[in-house]
Amino acid sequence: MADEQAQVLVVGAGLAGSSAAMFLARRGVRVLLVERHPGTSVHPRATGQFPPTMELLRIGGVADQVLAAGPGTGHDLVIRIAETVRGPVFDTIVHGTDDIDTSAMSPAPFGMASQDKVEPILLAQARDAGATVRFDTEVVGVHQDADGVTARLLDRTNGRLTTVRADYVVAADGHRSPIREWLGIGRQGRGALGHQVGVIFEADLADHVEQDAVALYYLRNKVFTGAYVSIDVPNRHLMTFDYHPEAGESVADFTTERVTELIRVGLADPTVAVAVKAVQAWEMGAFVADRFADGRIFLAGDAAKVTPPTGGMGGNTAIGDAYDVAWKLADVLDGAAGPALLDSYQAERSPVACQVVLASLHNAKARMMPWLDLTGEPEPLAPLPMMFGFRHRSGAVLIEDDDPAPVEDPQRPTGRPGFRAPHVPLLSDGEPVSTIDLFGDHWTLLTSTEGGVWHRAAERAANELGLRLTALGLGPDLVDPTGGLPEVYGIGDAGASLVRPDGVVAWRCDHEVDDPVATLLAALRRLLGREPAARAA
Ligand SMILES: Cc1cc2nc3c(=O)[nH]c(=O)nc-3n(C[C@H](O)[C@H](O)[C@H](O)COP(=O)(O)OP(=O)(O)OC[C@H]3O[C@@H](n4cnc5c(N)ncnc54)[C@H](O)[C@@H]3O)c2cc1C
Repeated sequence: MADEQAQVLVVGAGLAGSSAAMFLARRGVRVLLVERHPGTSVHPRATGQFPPTMELLRIGGVADQVLAAGPGTGHDLVIRIAETVRGPVFDTIVHGTDDIDTSAMSPAPFGMASQDKVEPILLAQARDAGATVRFDTEVVGVHQDADGVTARLLDRTNGRLTTVRADYVVAADGHRSPIREWLGIGRQGRGALGHQVGVIFEADLADHVEQDAVALYYLRNKVFTGAYVSIDVPNRHLMTFDYHPEAGESVADFTTERVTELIRVGLADPTVAVAVKAVQAWEMGAFVADRFADGRIFLAGDAAKVTPPTGGMGGNTAIGDAYDVAWKLADVLDGAAGPALLDSYQAERSPVACQVVLASLHNAKARMMPWLDLTGEPEPLAPLPMMFGFRHRSGAVLIEDDDPAPVEDPQRPTGRPGFRAPHVPLLSDGEPVSTIDLFGDHWTLLTSTEGGVWHRAAERAANELGLRLTALGLGPDLVDPTGGLPEVYGIGDAGASLVRPDGVVAWRCDHEVDDPVATLLAALRRLLGREPAARAA
């Protein structure tokens, strides 16, 4: 008999684990999160949230806090490749938010908060929703059987060993994931690309960098290859430098004197006063796990894939993994879905991971590592289609066409199953909302009219399956000023679009049907893995 029970054990309190615990707890799942360190990351690490991530954080109820934890509006983002922060500049990748206007695709803004600020917000929200969060607690072994997983926990403050029994485990235990290793899950990819030392320092750089901008400079000079990143604390900054363990270098070589010298090179100022605050080493790599799941254990974040930081996708996809596994586990634990729904986690997240790693590798070559040989690697998908136009393919979407394209143009969304439900501006009780604001936490059946047969069908299906399903239709309370929704969603006047809790279209119908209840129930049963034979067909 285990010492304690949880429905889901989350291992690791990085972005993947913290957000998984938050999303699960807010769905009413009993969660235990354990983290071997005494607290969350003090290093800024992954910085920035893409609009789709902010949409997920809004479902978690923390989008406003995360936005406020960044530098806020009025700060432009500047990304450059340069010899030093004072130039010469080799290339400007982004200069100003106009370069990355995504308002036609999402109502959510970009966030610019760093990992050290975001993790505490996620964990506080997880705790508020009922999750138990335990630091100084390391998972030292897992064993699964047909009914659940037993994990051994080591209390690092006193050496005491206990056990926890959980229905499922989310292994968000990072790049070196012990759980992935124990499960014998290998990884593919380019492997280690290089090692970086990140240094947090204090200096008055009013004369060196733009003060009203969030600055990311990839630095390439005769002394080092690295980056400068502005931090949202006055006079605090981050600079990274490459180092070479294969040549006998170690992080211990980065003494305060040496680091100060390197920072001065990066600032092109040999006398600027610098106070070094923290030094941390990390490996830049490109790996994707061979499998994202093993039985009842699911890998999320860096445990599942490691991507070069060039492009800022590691943290964003860690939160994406967390939301995906969380809503699917919650639907299964609610009894609304069968365990087969969980097969879609690997089917959907692994292709995303491969594309993210590929795009980040190409970015790494362009921005930091011109020597990287990418011969034979395919061209990456363009950033906006990747972010807003990726097609999910799994048993949890009923794709009706044979278009093999991995993405669509998000400026011209089609509303087809597998793609993100399109952003259409509406008025709800006279207030502007986006269709995207209507989704999250529950399944949604969207129709062109209020009430009617589809809405009655949704009520019947929700009751019969025990599913959180909301029916919404255009009408006096939800107005479509442009009149474009029925066409954009491909549902005409009499059809319906079924949108998953992650805002992906799962199924749609563009016409009246004889028996909407049977039609909707059949679609949902397949999507939710309630009819394994039908799903396999
Ligand atoms: C030093 C460093 C600097 C980085 N800098 C950048 C950057 O500049 N830009 C960028 O985009 N990305 C950066 N990254 C990567 C980025 O932080 C990750 O992509 C992102 O945080 C993914 O989060 P995660 O939750 O999957 O993993 P992590 O944040 O690594 O979290 C995993 C957690 O699991 C815990 N853990 C591991 N094993 C156990 C166990 N057995 N029991 C309990 N807990 C365990 C670890 O202590 C850790 O807290 C950096 C990573 C590191 C390590």
